[in-house]
Amino acid sequence: MWRRHEELSESTEISPAFFNVLSQLDQDALLVAPGEVILFATEGVETLNILKENRINSPELVALIRVVRRTHQTHLGKVEIPRGPIGEGLRELTVRAIYIAELDNIVVLLSDESEAERVHEVRRDFVANISHELKTPIGALSLLSEAVLSAADEPDSVIKFATRMQLEAKRLTDLVQEIINLSRLQDSDPLMVANENSVAELINEAIDLVKTTSESKGISVTTTELPDVIVLGDGEQLIMALTNLLENAINYSPENTKVSVSSTISDGIVEIIVADQGIGIPEGEQDRIFERFYRVDPARSRETGGTGLGLSIVKHVASKHGGEVKVWSSPNVGSSFALRLPIFISTGGSSE
Ligand code: ADP
Repeated sequence: MWRRHEELSESTEISPAFFNVLSQLDQDALLVAPGEVILFATEGVETLNILKENRINSPELVALIRVVRRTHQTHLGKVEIPRGPIGEGLRELTVRAIYIAELDNIVVLLSDESEAERVHEVRRDFVANISHELKTPIGALSLLSEAVLSAADEPDSVIKFATRMQLEAKRLTDLVQEIINLSRLQDSDPLMVANENSVAELINEAIDLVKTTSESKGISVTTTELPDVIVLGDGEQLIMALTNLLENAINYSPENTKVSVSSTISDGIVEIIVADQGIGIPEGEQDRIFERFYRVDPARSRETGGTGLGLSIVKHVASKHGGEVKVWSSPNVGSSFALRLPIFISTGGSSE
């Protein structure tokens, strides 16, 4: 456990006022003594995944600090820090390391500005894609309303066209909702306002949310071996990710099949697996399905009300939580999706 402000102000020669100044900064800060000993870290540093047992665990950051110790010059640089022990999620930190001659210590200021720039770029591309996706249901609504008008004297046709209009309107609503979900995700950092979430509860809540859909297709969703572990993060986002996996498992499976949710623990990671007996995904497509708006079979996705955004949301949630999502699938046999997240607390045992 790294030492906090209160303990240090008593145990070091350094004036408490100095620590106070560091705590008041907008940025996160570290005070590093020779030998890369951490004398002080602001509260926010805990969520940045750069300290382990009071040592800096990023070789890039250590190298930067060593340069400053050698040269006694302030150094400005960028370092990439994994968001968690697994997955590809990275945080790019802007680092300013300042040598304080009087103390022979180094103050390291850390900020996540580069993340804001990246979000801006992602959003720009996203808006271009959205415009294209919105045009399809809007175009369909416009054509269908013309059809209703020209068939005004034929009640059967009016019913047929109006029913399709309802479907297209629902698609449009779902699409807009998913776009809102995704843009919220891109704005937030769930590890900054991290809550403790029981994995078993997250799974049960997600299953509840898909109950109507699963029952209408005669698909039973079963759970086995839900371990007693806590993950850090935004519970709503994690439930949304699990719900997306469950909805897909149901949508891409024939009626009266089974969907199961299980989980395993190893090396501090909990793996939540959603398995189905559905149509499967050809191997060549398995990487692409996580891209926004990518569908293996656009006609089928449209039929089931898919927006093409579900799995990109899952991938985003996983990576923001320092985790990852994996898929195993075989056409006409079924698919398994695993959401892997770092465990915060493991209370041992397992509950069903
Ligand atoms: P959609 O809204 O189209 O379901 P997703 O991003 O959730 O969008 O999924 C992308 C594509 O991946 C889907 O269109 C489908 O082709 C494929 N897919 C996702 N989950 C499954 C699954 N469980 N079984 C078979 N195919 C799936």
